[in-house]
Amino acid sequence: MISAVLSMLSCVTAKRGEALSGDPVDYVSTLVGTLSKHSLSTGNTYPAVAMPWGMNFWTPQTGPMGDGWAYVYTEDKIRGFKQTHQPSPWINDYGQFSLMPSSKPVFDQDERASWFSHKAETATPYYYGVYLADHDTYAEFTPTERAAMFRMTYPESEMSYLVVDAFDQGSYVKVMPEENMVVGYTTRNSGGVSDNFRNWFVIVSDTPFDYVKGVENRNLTDRTEIEAAHAGALVGFRTGWGQKVNLKVASSFISLDQAKLNLRELGDRSFEEVKQAGRDRWNEVLGRFEVEDYNIDNIRTFYSCLYRSVLFPRDLSEIDAAGKRVHYSPHTGEVCPGYLYADTGVWDTFRCLFPLLNLAYPEENVKMQEGYVNHFLESGFLPEWSSPGHRGCMVGNNTASVVADAYLSGLRGYDIETLWEAVKTGANSEHPTVKSSGRWGYDRYNELGYVPCDIGINESAARTLEYAYDDWCIWQLGLVLGKSEEELAQYKKNALNYKNLYDAENGLMNGRKENGEFRRPFSPLKWGGDFTEGNSLHYTWSVFHDVDGLIDLMGGEEKFAAALDNVFEMPPHFDESYYGFVIHEIREMQIMNMGNYAHGNQPIQHMLYLYDWCGQPWKAQARIREVMDKFYTSAPDGYCGDEDNGQTSAWYVFSAMGFYPVCPGSGQYAVGTPLFRKVTLHLSNGKDVVISAPENSKENCYVTSLKVDGRRTDANYVTFDQLKDGADLVFSMSGTPDMKRGTSPESKPYSFSR
Ligand code: CA
Repeated sequence: MISAVLSMLSCVTAKRGEALSGDPVDYVSTLVGTLSKHSLSTGNTYPAVAMPWGMNFWTPQTGPMGDGWAYVYTEDKIRGFKQTHQPSPWINDYGQFSLMPSSKPVFDQDERASWFSHKAETATPYYYGVYLADHDTYAEFTPTERAAMFRMTYPESEMSYLVVDAFDQGSYVKVMPEENMVVGYTTRNSGGVSDNFRNWFVIVSDTPFDYVKGVENRNLTDRTEIEAAHAGALVGFRTGWGQKVNLKVASSFISLDQAKLNLRELGDRSFEEVKQAGRDRWNEVLGRFEVEDYNIDNIRTFYSCLYRSVLFPRDLSEIDAAGKRVHYSPHTGEVCPGYLYADTGVWDTFRCLFPLLNLAYPEENVKMQEGYVNHFLESGFLPEWSSPGHRGCMVGNNTASVVADAYLSGLRGYDIETLWEAVKTGANSEHPTVKSSGRWGYDRYNELGYVPCDIGINESAARTLEYAYDDWCIWQLGLVLGKSEEELAQYKKNALNYKNLYDAENGLMNGRKENGEFRRPFSPLKWGGDFTEGNSLHYTWSVFHDVDGLIDLMGGEEKFAAALDNVFEMPPHFDESYYGFVIHEIREMQIMNMGNYAHGNQPIQHMLYLYDWCGQPWKAQARIREVMDKFYTSAPDGYCGDEDNGQTSAWYVFSAMGFYPVCPGSGQYAVGTPLFRKVTLHLSNGKDVVISAPENSKENCYVTSLKVDGRRTDANYVTFDQLKDGADLVFSMSGTPDMKRGTSPESKPYSFSR
């Protein structure tokens, strides 16, 4: 009763009478994953200060210009505050520029850098503030979707400075003292844009400039308009002690005029008003999930993961002078109507990030689907990796899953017929320049039923396995769209193509040559080669849509379960010869004391749940809880590998609720083990999914019963249809595995061939 009252007052409450004060956003650490380096990723994130799915993110910048590791927890100095669009250090950034206060008239990124301390730093999703010791200046900023406000609190000085750095590789800056304004553009990018790409920016100060210099290729000049490889500006203010200089900043991928229009987002609001509105927006989005538990560490981890789950993909659309929504097309270089979203690799995010949107934030994914329509209309393909246009990275054709799961989850209001053409096009063609868009090797795949490993197409087994699942997705979508049996026959047939790579001699998936022979010698430990950032032990389970079919191939449930066990129980041996060095994903597996299980990378993240298909769901429960407890924290090293645009975070969000979408498109979630005593998911239609597990604790990780809306179910799954209009899930938990519940054939989740 007491907790019910508390939950009305605050979204996060504790049992045992101990109220945790604060709103959901107060439990977020934006620094999780920032203690990373090339050789070992604990997330490879930066502290994104942004609105959910916002066009621009901002980050304090510790790394040098161009370094993908923009903010690293162990660094001592900040060089600037960067507007960033980077999805991952491996893909790097585009459209970036930075601001930096300084007590000295210096521009150089090393000379202006200042010592700072995490203890004098406030990092939240909607606000960032830090004391820059070498300049005795407190720098703060708070963003909207396309703009931001900065507040620099300077010391008493003859002159305090602001550096505007438009970065190298072609940029422009113009200072207009009469308007207290600096404008410019940056062209810096990492590919995936048209030749005319520019990120235009405008900075308006509330304090007149008492000093103005242009910067041309790092040299200070009296000219105030600079177009150069590396343009910048230095403006100065005569400041009294504690004087605050407020700056309004906005940007646009379309034009300078549009950047000025985007200042509208700030209006006449004060810094504090913008900050409060950002805080409210974050609480609204994070508050869809209401957690009641006594374990504050888990609550912090949960909301930190939820924060990462609602950042990408970002909305690149802007509202023009006529009030119309338009976007700069990275494909054509033109201004096109409607939405466009960018900066996600669906090889990662099809697995559970998009399914999380479909369950908790469907209205956002409706806009993203419209964005996919536009990607296709403007480029002829759906981008498997967009940043912002097509980028060559990873394998598969998993946009088919993203499109199918959205529509099958009831999302409407966009042009599904164009997306139907798009997924068929993607399945039957190769992008002319970007190997990862469309399907590399589609012709041989359609002809032979697999992509051969000896025809010059790398990672062919991974491609085949994902194409087969993608074909199942296309078939499922086609069924709902009422497409003819004739049109669907190819996809239905090819959905079983995973069988063609099962090497019975080794009991695992293997690369296969054009002549039908399997690759010999075969090493289950070899990362890469026929697989992608994993080995056969990781990829054999990539039969999301037909686990029963895989069980049959592997000789039945007992053998299947033993093969799963083996992955955890064997030593973390590996073969890195394909790469010639130990890639960070391998190291992240090796050090976790969980055998060859590699949660730090995406291909295997669903595998723990497969015990639900072979009559041993308690093993899934134990392993899932072990992963939640051990692999995730809210500390700066809180992930166990690349976070990857919400995917690894959304895994935690789903798993903490007690279920996970092993097969997006199936309308089912495999049951695992809920982490909290109670989670309420406030659906966007106003209904609630309430998940209770009153006996839950660290020890009580085993499910002994599940009731859905008061009715006991033995199923190892819950369905989207059960949840979509609200549901009441009650788990009974125990410290002892229940070896009876969920063991019957009827309790298994979906399989295509059953
Ligand atoms: Ca990854």
